[in-house]
Amino acid sequence: MNIHEYQGKEIFRSMGVAVPNGSVAFSPDEAVEKAKELESNVYVVKAQIHAGGRGKAGGVKIAKSIDEVREYAKELLGKVLVTHQTGPEGKEVKRLLVEEGCDIQKEYYIGFVIDRATDRITLMASEEGGTEIEEVAAATPEKIFKEVIDPVTGLMPYQARRIAFNINIPKESVNKAVKLMMSLYNVFVEKDCSIVEINPLVTTGEGDVLALDAKVNFDDNALFKHKDIVEMRDLEEEDEKEIEASKYDLSYIALDGNIGCMVNGAGLAMATMDTINHFGGNPANFLDVGGGATKEKVTEAFKIILGDSQVEGIFVNIFGGIMKCDVIAEGIVAAVKEVSLDMPLVVRLEGTNVEQGKQILKESGLAIESASIMADGAQKIVKLVQER
Ligand code: ADP
Ligand code: MG
Repeated sequence: MNIHEYQGKEIFRSMGVAVPNGSVAFSPDEAVEKAKELESNVYVVKAQIHAGGRGKAGGVKIAKSIDEVREYAKELLGKVLVTHQTGPEGKEVKRLLVEEGCDIQKEYYIGFVIDRATDRITLMASEEGGTEIEEVAAATPEKIFKEVIDPVTGLMPYQARRIAFNINIPKESVNKAVKLMMSLYNVFVEKDCSIVEINPLVTTGEGDVLALDAKVNFDDNALFKHKDIVEMRDLEEEDEKEIEASKYDLSYIALDGNIGCMVNGAGLAMATMDTINHFGGNPANFLDVGGGATKEKVTEAFKIILGDSQVEGIFVNIFGGIMKCDVIAEGIVAAVKEVSLDMPLVVRLEGTNVEQGKQILKESGLAIESASIMADGAQKIVKLVQER
């Protein structure tokens, strides 16, 4: 689960990670009100969307007066911001963060991630802050420093110090940077994060070290422990189809192709997408209906797939292990009737009761194309969609 920058900063503030003063606003009047509470004469008005790259896209404005705060708030609220992370359709700005402008000396990058190779939380940092860390990693990997953290001891102060020296934090600010990293590590562990990223971390003219941005991502499997964090969820930032799918315990991820996929098992779902690709098609989604899909689940899955206007055909690829193919076939027939499907549908069934399953599809009288193996099914759906 993702949260907004201002929510990340609220968590940071409550756990001793230094951030500029500021708060959220939903209207220009509120933005002005919030700006007046700040003890600064430079304000920063920041679009709050679940995507980075706002600075370059015009979503971060420096205001030199309260009047300018109002102007920028008016300009940003309701605007569709297109950044390199939003996709071409962009995201509408509905919330703003109004915070104190800060006298930036230099921008750095620090982040905590879970490293799959070591199975440990890793602190990553660079003196190339403010730019895309992926670009730094590609062009100048020597400018990224890492500390692998032992889960028994947690982040050790000497590790944080080593990072601070490696990224050339000025001597007089090293202690503040170390304190910030130690506190940020606590945020990561206590809140069960999967990513905490500060880009940029800055040193200021007053020698302070502040988190100017906050990207915080939580491990969904641990959210049951954190009611306060679940309350921060902003459904408007999430894909509607993905929200709907989560209600029915379906793992769905929207993609940009035109062939809808309904598969049981994550591995088979990925193999199905690869196979469609291999034969020149483009999957519209990843969808794992799980091991024990019922008729209701299959129907919901169809509705979710069809909720995507780009879908021009559907490929159902089910392996009946725990599930029986005849039950699945009944589910498919019922769902096709209920949603009055009007596009090509290819079904590949294999496993327990496969013959009964195929019989049910055949006797339904519906225009369902059967396939015996995955490659056959993928080729059929790609061809049918191309012919449309
Ligand atoms: P994004 O990563 O989405 O572009 P950031 O929060 O990193 O958004 O802001 C982009 C840039 O705007 C920062 O790199 C920094 O230079 C500037 N900026 C952001 N917040 C402030 C602030 N409070 N004071 C001064 N400059 C800021
Ligand atoms: Mg940033």
